[in-house]
Amino acid sequence: MTTRFIFITGGVVSSLGKGLASAALGAVLQARGFTVRLRKLDPYLNIDPGTMSPTQHGEVYVTDDGAETDLDLGHYERFTGVSSRRSDNVTAGRIYKTVLEKERRGDYLGGTVQVIPHVTDAIKEFITADLTGEDFALIEIGGTVGDIESLPFLEAIRQLGNELGPERTMFVHLTLLPYIATAGELKTKPTQHSVKELLSVGIQPDLLLCRSEHEIPDSERRKIALFCNVRQEAVIAAYDAPSIYDVPVNYHTEGLDTQVCRHFQLGCESPPDLSRWHTIVQRVRQPEGEVTIAVVGKYMKLLDSYKSLAEALVHGGIANNVKVRLEWLDSQVFEQADNSTLLERVDGILVPGAFGERGAAGMMAAARFAREKDVPYLGICFGMQMAVIEAARNLAGIPGAGSTELSDPPAKVVGLMTEWMRGNAVERRQADGDMGGTMRLGAYPCILKPGSRAQAIYGGADTIDERHRHRYEVNNAYIGPLEARGLVFSGMSPDGLLPEIVEIPDHSWFIGVQFHPELKSKPFDPHPLFTAFVGAAVEKSRLV
Ligand code: GLN
Repeated sequence: MTTRFIFITGGVVSSLGKGLASAALGAVLQARGFTVRLRKLDPYLNIDPGTMSPTQHGEVYVTDDGAETDLDLGHYERFTGVSSRRSDNVTAGRIYKTVLEKERRGDYLGGTVQVIPHVTDAIKEFITADLTGEDFALIEIGGTVGDIESLPFLEAIRQLGNELGPERTMFVHLTLLPYIATAGELKTKPTQHSVKELLSVGIQPDLLLCRSEHEIPDSERRKIALFCNVRQEAVIAAYDAPSIYDVPVNYHTEGLDTQVCRHFQLGCESPPDLSRWHTIVQRVRQPEGEVTIAVVGKYMKLLDSYKSLAEALVHGGIANNVKVRLEWLDSQVFEQADNSTLLERVDGILVPGAFGERGAAGMMAAARFAREKDVPYLGICFGMQMAVIEAARNLAGIPGAGSTELSDPPAKVVGLMTEWMRGNAVERRQADGDMGGTMRLGAYPCILKPGSRAQAIYGGADTIDERHRHRYEVNNAYIGPLEARGLVFSGMSPDGLLPEIVEIPDHSWFIGVQFHPELKSKPFDPHPLFTAFVGAAVEKSRLV
């Protein structure tokens, strides 16, 4: 089957959950036996989100092939299990860069370079490239219809709609039906205006997905259909759900997949197999217990900074049949005073990834508390580095231990990586080089130590593959002194130079990992480290 394209745009307001909607649509199409690939077009000018603060843009999601991408790709992977690639996310910045590089090379042969056709051609090329015969490519357009920045993207998808025809393209528009409490009514006008806006750039939506807190009466559905020129059955309700994992089943109940099949004239007599989603929803709804995990981080202003992490902890809960209650703590509270009482009630402590000095001391204090009080601890990336420095200072008697990311410490226990192996090739970096796209990024293998806790957690595997995003590393010169005091480096890069996992065997559960396991966790395939960490928290909660 040739790939069909479903374009997903958003209207009325931002933050309607277009990424989630796209991911859930992908999941229902999979449940009907179709193969899918999901992509995101971001209208901003950064080349990728890698240089943006997480509090601006949320988490930076890293793919196996080392791209720093939008967090919506995380939703796509979690809902479909299809690993994202570099070719699944592009920004206006990258599109313009490609076009301008071509111009400098003289590829346009003296022509005037313009948004139409050169920029739109580059966008269309991106949308259609690197597909491997998937039944559907779902293309989400970032931003809200009406933004100046998204115009070239909308124009490009309009052109594709025209070139490939309705048998291969479909336009889905996500809107909001606000509820006016005083009138007791849902309002359709913003949706009508948003569709008008789309029509003004030549796009007639085929289906409207309407976010709403209240039931949409038939009369309103009819009105939307009439004013927006959409069949009434193609006005689909997207109600608020108790858990994001309810969404695929809800979409099916509302007829979304049926309407998509109908649009493409695909048979859809037999129902989709949504059993996987029913099981997940069941487990989320009826846990057998509850544990509390403290997440001690620094990007608390925008919890989207920890999107994959929060989901991976939910998955760890699903695996253990418990609800995981998260206590988000700004690490700086542990710097101002002795606030360790905040950690006394929790069943596990997690210090996630971070950059820069602010909050680092508080993270070390949290790691120390976990180590000394035997509280299950998972340190991810920066959280591993801080745990190692803490142990070096307070356990191995190296008071000058520190990271060159934070200061110029006498004992550089964590230092800048300027050279490492990727397969058989050497990757080199300059200390004063570009910040964008230059970290150790993407999947790298890691060799597990026989008999270690890490190896047991990974089901006895010798080698694992995990995704990375870091510039600093634990200096292997300190492995000896740290192992002499009870730490074990149970995961190393294949050349034996880069510490990837550290654990403390003489502790109920203490693990630090240099990579980001949260990026690969799925509700139907929880990551073993999160399953084991939440499991350890369950054990601890039973002891108290
Ligand atoms: N800032 C640290 C580094 O670059 C850790 C990065 C992270 O936690 N992702 O190595």
